[in-house]
Amino acid sequence: MSRISFIGLGNMGLPMAINLAKAGHDVCGFDLSAEAKAGFSAHGRVGESVAACVVGAEFVITMLPAGRHVEAVLTDVLAAVGAARPLLIDSSTIDVETARKVAARAAEAGLEMLDAPVSGGVGGATAGSLTFMVGGPEAAFARGEPLLRVMGKTIVHTGPAGAGQAAKICNNMILGISMLAVSEAFVLADRLGLDRQKLFDVSSTSSGQCWSLTSYCPAPGPVPNSPANRGWQPGFAAALMSKDLTLAQAAAEASGAPTPLGAHAARLYAQMLEDGAGDRDFSYAYPWLGGKWRGDPA
Ligand code: NAD
Repeated sequence: MSRISFIGLGNMGLPMAINLAKAGHDVCGFDLSAEAKAGFSAHGRVGESVAACVVGAEFVITMLPAGRHVEAVLTDVLAAVGAARPLLIDSSTIDVETARKVAARAAEAGLEMLDAPVSGGVGGATAGSLTFMVGGPEAAFARGEPLLRVMGKTIVHTGPAGAGQAAKICNNMILGISMLAVSEAFVLADRLGLDRQKLFDVSSTSSGQCWSLTSYCPAPGPVPNSPANRGWQPGFAAALMSKDLTLAQAAAEASGAPTPLGAHAARLYAQMLEDGAGDRDFSYAYPWLGGKWRGDPA
């Protein structure tokens, strides 16, 4: 049994913290939102502040919206830990540069830190089947892995600090682009009078095959449990895909990597958000593209 401080009890953090508590760990949860704290109170201790939660913790896990929140919480954590040396694990999706910066700040204060963003969404967080992509020193990974195994199924140590976030944005750039490619193909098929199921039968077993098609088909019908069959309710919201593609573009610019398709995909998801589709699943790209270019209602 470990003493764990869990900061950020939102859509993802709450079920992750609950799984740690269910596994027998002593979890103290904190969130700025009273509603989020109330959601955790039946499962573990709730702290009055980051500082109150962190004192005595062996592990501090953060699941926050963006890099600036992680930096702010780290400041509070460093001020509160005293002589203790908890392992810090940030599972938020944030920019690579900030991930490296906070790990360096933690190291200066004598604390080990892992960037451990996840894939798998709220469903994976609830089921304890997330994929963790983990950046940080080998020894810190060995220390944190048993806890990550409680919350996830696939845990990959991807390299030094920042490598977890790098893996996350590279993967999601593939996903964002491939979803647009599949959506465009179905829009074209519709215009050509080609039955969606027939396109699926061909492409899912030939060279067009990819996860966006076979597991998450954006057109209603072929994959019964895909969001397309429940009005494109998320799943993985277009706003989150837009966030990840924006992070990928920031990393591409900083590193000089040419990512012209990633840049175009980022612009298209940003337009989806402007059109009010941010809270739809990102596979809403299919009806959105179909309507956008022909003026059809989505
Ligand atoms: P969320 O907005 O539901 O939760 C974030 C929580 O952090 C909120 O409850 C908020 O009140 C809290 N918070 C913000 N600042 C705080 C602070 N200073 N101290 C304490 N609490 C604070 O977001 P989410 O959907 O749970 O996502 C969390 C992270 O996981 C994000 O970085 C997101 O990109 C990433 N992610 C989300 C999904 C998903 O499907 N939702 C999937 C993979 C990764």
